[in-house]
Parts: sequence; C-alpha cells; structure tokens
Amino acid sequence: MTEEKLIEAIRIVPDFPVKGIQFFDVTTLFKDVACYAEVIDRICSLYADKGITKVAGIESRGFVTGAAVAARLGAGFVPIRKPGKLPARVVSEKYTKEYGTDSLEIHDDAITPDDVVLVHDDVLATGGTALAAVKLVKGFGPKAVFCNFIINITDCPRTSPIPEDVPVESILNMAER
Ligand code: AMP
Repeated sequence: MTEEKLIEAIRIVPDFPVKGIQFFDVTTLFKDVACYAEVIDRICSLYADKGITKVAGIESRGFVTGAAVAARLGAGFVPIRKPGKLPARVVSEKYTKEYGTDSLEIHDDAITPDDVVLVHDDVLATGGTALAAVKLVKGFGPKAVFCNFIINITDCPRTSPIPEDVPVESILNMAER
C-alpha cells in the first residue's frame, strides 16, 4: 500500500479541539482494515530487530496500535495514562502540549532495567506528550528507549524535543498548514 493511501485515510478536522488546531483523526484509518494492518506492519518492520520487550502506549489512541504492535513483536504492553486512571501506585510527569497542559502516569512496576521499550503514540506535535512519556520510561533505567508515531506533524514547532539518545521514527509526515 502507498503512503498516499494511508494519508488519504486520515480525516482532517479543522478547529478541533480548539480554533486554529487542525486535528489528524486516525479513527478513519483504524476502521479501514487494510490501512490499520498496513500501519501495524510498517511499525513492526521498523522494530523487528531491536529486541523490544515492552511497548508503552500513550492514552488513548496510542493503545490502539501500540497493543497490536506489542503482540506482534512478542513484547508486553504498558499503558501510559491520564491522571487518576491507573489503579495501583504510579509515577507522574507534567507536560505541555500543543493546546494546553496535562500530566501522564505509569504504574511504578511497569518497566524493569532489563527492558527495551518502544514508546508509541498516534501523533507527534510539539513533543510535550512524548517527552513526558520518555521521561517516565527512562526513570526505570531500561536498556534502551525508542519512540514511534503514526504521524509526525512536520510544521509544528518541536518545543519539547525528545532526547537525542532516543531514536524517533514516524510512519507518515504531514503538514498542518
Ligand atoms: P504534543 O504533546 O504537542 O506532541 O501532542 C501530541 C499529543 O496530542 C498526541 O497524544 C496526539 O494524540 C495529540 N495531538 C496534538 N496535536 C494533534 C493534532 N494536530 N491532531 C491530532 N492529535 C493531536
């Protein structure tokens, strides 16, 4: 399948959730079985030889592909969630995103120093969300951390850059404006 076909499957919603944001809606990609399978195939082929032992998916769209990728790579899945959602003891990290501030949480026993972790989300915009997730994961001292997105918004200022020792890969590059 071509990259154009995947891009066409993403619904662009202007002014959501606030005016001036062009929202890349991946639910239209997820509901198309061929596109959904293609995205999972592409992500898995990027990480097949990296020894990934845990995929850490960011709530909530990062769960949809992250869990499928984890199962295919033979890795465990770890949820990184919005505050108050995880039932056991957590570690938290505050962050700034393209439209506001928030924080993320992970269970304090989610990852061990033996793990090789792939952090996954649907969209990379300013990098704030991913940076917070990477900080949470790095706090466990894993062997290595990788970061993956379905869409990299190429013209969004990367105000929260991901550390250089964390390789970043995206399946699609899309401009907002
Ligand atoms: P950021 O922290 O700015 O990189 O924003 C990334 C997070 O916010 C991801 O979890 C995305 O799901 C969501 N997000 C930010 N901007 C957009 C956008 N333009 N379209 C879709 N999702 C977005």
